[in-house]
Amino acid sequence: MADENYRTTLTYDAADEYRPEPPPAPEIPAWKDGSIRIGIHTSISGDITRALDIAAGLGANALQIFSSSPRMWDRGTARISEADAERFRLRRKELALGPLVIHSNYLINLASPNPVLRARSVQAFHQEIVRAMALGADFLVLHPGSALGAHPESAIAAVGQGLRQAARGVKLGELQILLENTAGQGSSLGSKFGELKAILNAIPELPVGVCIDTAHLLASGSDIRTDAGLDGTLREIERVIGLERVAVVHVNDSKTPLGSRVDRHEHIGKGKIGIDAFRRILNHRLLAHCAFVLETPIDKPGDDRRNVAALWKLVGRVVKATGSRDGMRPRRKRARPAAAKVRRGRVRRKSRGK
Ligand SMILES: [Zn+2]
Ligand SMILES: [Zn+2]
Repeated sequence: MADENYRTTLTYDAADEYRPEPPPAPEIPAWKDGSIRIGIHTSISGDITRALDIAAGLGANALQIFSSSPRMWDRGTARISEADAERFRLRRKELALGPLVIHSNYLINLASPNPVLRARSVQAFHQEIVRAMALGADFLVLHPGSALGAHPESAIAAVGQGLRQAARGVKLGELQILLENTAGQGSSLGSKFGELKAILNAIPELPVGVCIDTAHLLASGSDIRTDAGLDGTLREIERVIGLERVAVVHVNDSKTPLGSRVDRHEHIGKGKIGIDAFRRILNHRLLAHCAFVLETPIDKPGDDRRNVAALWKLVGRVVKATGSRDGMRPRRKRARPAAAKVRRGRVRRKSRGK
């Protein structure tokens, strides 16, 4: 009997088994709740974290920013301190904004046949990746570049190789690079879906998808103004690239007509695409997984707020801009940074190519 008791006390009990703490389940950010995401490109001038408050204040629940000056080569000076990056990440979490899209510098041309410009582009895009990761961005948008006389095929290969070089030694984690379709100005790559797909094919090992800009679609000859035209365009993207690889739609009306190959953004409903087309785009089932991000011009104070409100209205929601979440005043001032002023005081920032 005693023997038996003894044995009983030693009976293996699975509950006594040592178990290391299970690894914490990856935290799903609040913004990934499946709701429609409407964002706008906001300014980082002065303080990068302020861009978040601006977006939230405008009624957006997603945003796009530059992570440094978009028209200057940063010579290693555009690093973001870890303290600033952390403040930015925390504030973004508080505001539940997402996705966070970063648009890379316009000067980057990974397709350049000029070895000096190409090397500089690789270096600059590497820095873009580093900053995007520090800020916890979801997507980093890049224009494929311009062949500048090189054969498109070798230019496409150069872009693939440039992306590989720029990403070397970096664990991209959740960050996805998005190649943006272009209006087809000059020798720019990416106005044809086949060119975007060829670049994707060249770098199967990298997390790369596509960003589709509506103004660029129209300018490059896709007639998205009609129901049938939009369906045809989306079917072609599906066939050539696969719509699951399209993560972000840049929602811009176009000042220039179908096939113009000229990239000029216009307010939603005020350009050649028109409000009915945007209603179909925002509610299209084939684009339901995409985030919609505005890059519309700011000609008058309040244009940004009106464009955000216009998109919400198209999806049947009334979202009022508060502009006071952070106790800040309405964003009139931000529409007129001194550097963006041009002759006659007109603000043309963001009305041009993105
Ligand atoms: Zn553009
Ligand atoms: Zn764009």
